[in-house]
Amino acid sequence: MAGFNAGLGMARSYYAATAHPWPGLPSLAGEIEADMVVVGGGCTGLSAALHAAESGASVALLEGGKVGWGASGRNGGQIIPGLRKGALELVKAYGPGRARALLHLALEARNLVGDLIERHAIDCDLKATGHLLAAVRPSDLEGMEEEAECLATVMGYGDVEVLSAAEIRQEVDSEYHGGLLDRRGGHLHPLNYTLGLGNAALAAGVAIFEHSVAIRLETAGGVRVATNAGAVRAKRAVLAGDALMEGLAPNVEGRIMPVANYVVATAPLADPRALIARDLAVSDNRFVVNYYRLTADGRLLFGGGERYTPDPPRDIAGFVRPYLEGVFPRLRGTPIDHAWGGLVSITRTRLPHVGRRGDVFFAHGYSGMGAILSTLAGKLLAEAIAGEDDRFDLFADVAPPPFPGGVALRGPLHVLGMLWYALRDRL
Ligand SMILES: Cc1cc2nc3c(=O)[nH]c(=O)nc-3n(C[C@H](O)[C@H](O)[C@H](O)COP(=O)(O)OP(=O)(O)OC[C@H]3O[C@@H](n4cnc5c(N)ncnc54)[C@H](O)[C@@H]3O)c2cc1C
Repeated sequence: MAGFNAGLGMARSYYAATAHPWPGLPSLAGEIEADMVVVGGGCTGLSAALHAAESGASVALLEGGKVGWGASGRNGGQIIPGLRKGALELVKAYGPGRARALLHLALEARNLVGDLIERHAIDCDLKATGHLLAAVRPSDLEGMEEEAECLATVMGYGDVEVLSAAEIRQEVDSEYHGGLLDRRGGHLHPLNYTLGLGNAALAAGVAIFEHSVAIRLETAGGVRVATNAGAVRAKRAVLAGDALMEGLAPNVEGRIMPVANYVVATAPLADPRALIARDLAVSDNRFVVNYYRLTADGRLLFGGGERYTPDPPRDIAGFVRPYLEGVFPRLRGTPIDHAWGGLVSITRTRLPHVGRRGDVFFAHGYSGMGAILSTLAGKLLAEAIAGEDDRFDLFADVAPPPFPGGVALRGPLHVLGMLWYALRDRL
């Protein structure tokens, strides 16, 4: 698909350069019928399609571009257990019982992804090494201690530990004031994971159409999703287009805000473990996050920087480089082999927007935490469509509010908000 994703350089990404072969699938031509039609071939859509097909439904999936070329195949590959909203905030907003239920449901994503990788033999460089949230201000450490305490005692999640400034120095060759290590985190090659899910969906009988942009959604008497060259009639529809939906369902899309984010991969490093000793995935706790990890072939894959205009920088590598060198001064001048970008969808509460309007189901807005959460959300969509909606409702009941002004105004207002937080980071 052109539109939003244009100019974000996926073809030049490290992931595209190291992707497993993918057959390339036909586009939709003519009118067909299925039990369920899915819009979007990222992890949300593929997981919904796979789980529905495995329980016997006939499924057609429309992907506007190529499978995995949305956020699912271009992200940082960081496996970060849980939700973007922290445990303390969850408890404050929803009380301990509901907060615990939400968190534990989200935590299932880690096992689900692990099981799918194993069951479908998906070769995607999975590293279960852990995820480290690094503190950029001395005062952040106290908050991290409270968060770890809340996770352990209120939430019953004991896989996190607080690291002091001296301890984090053993893990990462950079200046931090401490951090929160989650032993259940890690990283993977997101495009190869997504293509693996795609292969599993094909094997389960899902009809996947690429280069088939859904341009119209009709909901009278079942659903009908039309492209320029055909249509799918179905009982139920799943919208899994995340930040790339571009107006197919404006009242659903008004709850998420697409924000561009940029990533680079250096040339292979002589001694990658000198940067990250135990191969952890790392992100810092700035509002505009720096996040990084090593790749299987010893590069540093680094995402960071802030940009408040929708057009991508002409030189993405040059744009990200100062952030990378700020974290790792020893990499000054290191060649950057790959640079690309993508759209992260965020919500006002930083919880995903999961729900249904009649026969139309949707999940999006993982707020930078969708690498594994999207696979879980897809499964919840399939469960809800099959009539088991208890777990789906846990998320649906905490749906984030719309951005003021809906799709038209969310951009300018959000830019103002981002500038404020970015300024706070600097101060
Ligand atoms: C640069 C970047 C870095 C990130 N890093 C991380 C990370 O390290 N860890 C983490 O947890 N999360 C990360 N995320 C977030 C994560 O990638 C997403 O939350 C997740 O991939 C969303 O998956 P999805 O399937 O919902 O959407 P997508 O993967 O974007 O898939 C949506 C698909 O729908 C298609 N589509 C949209 N509209 C239509 C239409 N009308 N017709 C047909 N097809 C359509 C698109 O072409 C696309 O392929 C990152 C995101 C980005 C962009």
